[in-house]
Amino acid sequence: MKVALVGHGKMGRIVEEVAPSRGIEVVDRFTRSCPLRADDATRRALSGVSALVDFSVPEAVVDTARAAAELSLSLVIGTTGWQDRVDEVRALAERAGIGVVRAANFSLGVNIFYRLVEQAAKLLATVDTYDPFIHDWHHRFKLDSPSGTALEIRRRMARHYGDREVPITCQRSGYVPSVHWVGFDSEADTIHLEHRARNRRGLADGALLATQWIAGRSGFHEFQDVLTDLLPMDLDS
Ligand code: NAD
Repeated sequence: MKVALVGHGKMGRIVEEVAPSRGIEVVDRFTRSCPLRADDATRRALSGVSALVDFSVPEAVVDTARAAAELSLSLVIGTTGWQDRVDEVRALAERAGIGVVRAANFSLGVNIFYRLVEQAAKLLATVDTYDPFIHDWHHRFKLDSPSGTALEIRRRMARHYGDREVPITCQRSGYVPSVHWVGFDSEADTIHLEHRARNRRGLADGALLATQWIAGRSGFHEFQDVLTDLLPMDLDS
């Protein structure tokens, strides 16, 4: 399978490094100085490519989706920080009949962590002596804050906490790839759940798994849909 990358920074480079282990060949890369356009030259350069993998910047996502739609290429979007434009991207995908998979976090571990957090929230929301909180810690270069992952954790906790908004605190310092804590604090004790990424390879591999899954499919999907389809464990019930 051949893919092209949109964004060739920290994530794009790791996607390229991991791709051969999934039998995927990266044939082109688009960046800030060479953005994706739906012109004839690009169409020729991308002949044989079945999908684009986007780890770029939030401002570029809608233009990339528009170009992908015009080029009839599926799109896997790892870029975060464009939540307010999701409906536009969904509409573009549906109108063009291309497939899109997006996730704020393509790590299998994080997607299992979502499930654990949701179970904990379900249990602890019934006990009003515990105050819930989320903390996200990323390297100093991360642009968006809170992280898309922290927002997704809060969205899932809200299923059990209702109107009570779970606070998120953020730390942008150092070089750690990503840490998320979910805590429940009472006068007597604290319950902590932690996910700590050791490196970015798991994120790249998840995005590539989604790229293989979306081939031949259409419509707008979350990575959870991919995992629910591929893994024996039921992540959503
Ligand atoms: P980075 O700053 O290292 O790289 C960004 C890349 O985007 C650069 O190559 C830059 O040239 C390119 N770019 C900028 N404008 C562009 C444009 N108009 N068209 C095409 N490319 C353009 O960033 P990174 O660490 O690789 O992260 C990229 C994005 O992925 C961020 O939004 C980050 O939050 C997100 N991310 C998501 C996951 C996930 O699992 N979903 C994991 C890690 C990072």
